[in-house]
Parts: sequence; C-alpha cells; structure tokens
Amino acid sequence: MFIGIDDTDSERGLCTTYLAAVLMDRLRPFGELVGLPKLVRLNPCAQFKTRGNAAIAFQIETERVQEVRDLALQTVVELSDLSGKNTNPGLVMADAVSRRMRDFYKRAVTEILEIYEAREILEADGVWHQGFKKGRGLIGALAAVGAELEDHTYELIAYREPKRWGTPRMIDQASVWKADSLTYPLTWDTVDCHNNRIVFAPHSADPVLFGIRGDDIGAIDLAFQTITSEPWERKVLYLTNQGTDAHIIPGVVSEIVDNKSYRLKGRVKDAPQAIEGGHLFFSIHDKENSLVCAAFEPTKNFRDTVKKLIPGDLIDVYGAVKERTLNLEKLEVLELADRIATQAPLCPSCGKRMKSAGRGQGYRCRRCKLNAEQRELKALPRDIETGFYEVPPCARRHLSKQLVRMKGQKVHPSR
Ligand code: ATP
Repeated sequence: MFIGIDDTDSERGLCTTYLAAVLMDRLRPFGELVGLPKLVRLNPCAQFKTRGNAAIAFQIETERVQEVRDLALQTVVELSDLSGKNTNPGLVMADAVSRRMRDFYKRAVTEILEIYEAREILEADGVWHQGFKKGRGLIGALAAVGAELEDHTYELIAYREPKRWGTPRMIDQASVWKADSLTYPLTWDTVDCHNNRIVFAPHSADPVLFGIRGDDIGAIDLAFQTITSEPWERKVLYLTNQGTDAHIIPGVVSEIVDNKSYRLKGRVKDAPQAIEGGHLFFSIHDKENSLVCAAFEPTKNFRDTVKKLIPGDLIDVYGAVKERTLNLEKLEVLELADRIATQAPLCPSCGKRMKSAGRGQGYRCRRCKLNAEQRELKALPRDIETGFYEVPPCARRHLSKQLVRMKGQKVHPSR
C-alpha cells in the first residue's frame, strides 16, 4: 500500500511530516514499512501552502488493509488542525503507482493544479482516498505517492516532545556549528556562515525540532550525533526531492507564465538597481523579449554578486515567476561583457596623456602642439567570474539545487 498525506497543518501549528511520523510508528504492528518515506516538495508558487508546500508518502506491506485505513483516518483526524481556514486534508491509499500518478507528480511540482484533477485520477485508477473539508490535500497526497525521485537527497527530521511545542527550542548553538563543520559539504544548509545564522530549525510553534539535509546518510547521522539539544520525541529519515531543482523548467523568456519556476537564458539589459528596502532589480532580454529579475532583500549577500552584472553579460537565471518578475534563486554567468571606460589618448610624440581641448574639440598636447579627435577605449577589470552563484542558506528554497551538489561545474557556493 502506498499512503499519501497532505494539508493537515496550519500557521498555528502541527505538521504533515509529524502526522506521518506518528502514523508510521502506529502502523508498525500491522505490516512492514518498505524503504524510506518520501518528503516531497511541490510547486513553491502554490497559493494555499502553509510554509514549504510539503507532502508525505510511504509504503507499507500489509494484509490488514481495513485496519490500516482506520488507523490512518483516525490519525489524520487527531493530528490535523481541521479548524485552520486553509487546512483541507487529503489521504490517499493506492495498491500500485500508475503512470498517471507519476505524471501528476511532475505537474504538481511545476504547475498549479485543481482539486478535481486529483479526484479524476483517483477515480480513474480506483484508488481509495478521503478528502476532508475541501479536500485540497488530495493534490499533494496523490503527487507524493506518484513521486519518482530519480534525483534525490535526504533530510533527517527530529520532532519535539508535545509538552514543549510553542516554547523556544533548546539547541546548543556551538554543537550545530561543529556538526556543520564536521559534515559539510555532505550535509548543507544547517548554518549560514556568511550571515552568521543557524538555519536548520524553524521558529514556529510546530513539532519540528530541526532538520539535517544532505546526500550522505552517514554524514547526516554524524551531524545528528554531534548536536546537543532538548530531548527529541522521535526522528525520521526522509528521501526527498529537496535540493534537486525538480521545480525548474528550462524555458525561453517569450513563453513564461506566472507561478512556474524556470531556467532562462538572456543578456543583461539594464544594470541592476536597488529600490527602497534593499530589493534589487534588473532585466534580461532574449531576442526581442525582456524580463525583470529580482534579488529581494532576504537574499542578503547574493545581491552583492547581482550588483556586479552589467549590460551585455550572458546569464542563465533560475527562479519562480510571479507578476512577470523572476525571483532569483541562482544564476550562472556564461559570458562576461567588457567593461569599457574612455580616457584622453596618449600623445604620439611625447607619450604623455593629452588634455581636453575644450568641449567638443577633441584633445591636444600642449607641449607638442598635436591634436587628436578620438578618446581612447580602456577595458576595466570585472570583479565577477563566470560560473554559478546562489542565494545564501538563509534564503534557500527547499527545492533549489545547492551548488555543492553540482558536480563538474564551475560553482561559487554560498555558505
Ligand atoms: P507544511 O510544509 O507545513 O506541510 P505546506 O506548506 O506543505 O505545509 P499545506 O498545508 O500542505 O502547505 O498546503 C498546500 C496545499 O496546496 C495542499 O492542499 C496541496 O495539496 C496543495 N498543492 C500542492 N501542490 C499544488 C499545486 N501544484 N497546485 C495546486 N495546489 C497544490
């Protein structure tokens, strides 16, 4: 049985991953859990997400179908915030994963879908499901079941004891920095060195204590063992599409639409300009189409890189398009334009720099009495190289592929 769950929490608390963690433990006497549970992130532009648009699916080998269903239903009712305005849980239990479900996942991570589209597939494939309230969670629950994670990473999530929910998390900061230095780059986004922040623990009232992300299970475990914190209630290692760019569609500027995430190639058209609040904007063009790109204030030191771009640079930009503006997650500088300055020419006789002969009258060497019409062009050094640049860990999107994962590419990881 493949069990998918989504949309059980609200801004006030709880968490779908916690519900799944509890359910998996409760189901152990009824069968055998197969492989790792999947923590699947879906389109980050989905309107009704609470935080990171996560959904969960796991597999259990069982003969006791009815009991498993009853326990799953009971756990969803017990551990969902059904009073949440935008909480519309969905529970899916499938005997097999069909081609249609796999395609549905690919669409759910890149497009905006409607609840009826999930229901149509569930009906067509004869899949048992239960939607609560509007049942919007069926979208994520079905997509999580259908997710085939060719590229994947891992996240180990530790959950808090319920009596501590809503209180400040007690985590020994020094141990977190140590865990990171022992295991980076096999784990990542635990700390943000440049911005001097720990970024692996939420600050909200939900049950998550912290999450350690990486692509090496041994390194994740070492990091976990290194961290000193309040006692955790349970922990789960998930297989996940985080850090894989699963949401990114290779595209061209003329074809983009809002609420999708793209990789687009273009030349910088206008130099980056900051507006009030520290948000930075510039535009790129590919042939006759142009697009505004933004590095917002929360992207912090990434903006220092963006500021170094000049018109003519050829770049690939990565990010979600909202209101015809691409919110940068990373960029690749493919070709640097020449930065040109002009200056008075040298005198061909004495070799000294000539002086202006007056407005619009060219240049003159007073000593040698020689004139010249044209200014001299001079290439200035660029303080940026080709290669990939990314936002820092404190601004990372769950799905964005970290540069440390890009093997064989010229990268400038932000850490
Ligand atoms: P958390 O990360 O804490 O679990 P969340 O950010 O995942 O919360 P949800 O409460 O799960 O947010 O709400 C997201 C809602 O959006 C769910 O109902 C899910 O089914 C739906 N959804 C997911 N992907 C899409 C999509 N591509 N198009 C439309 N709706 C989607």
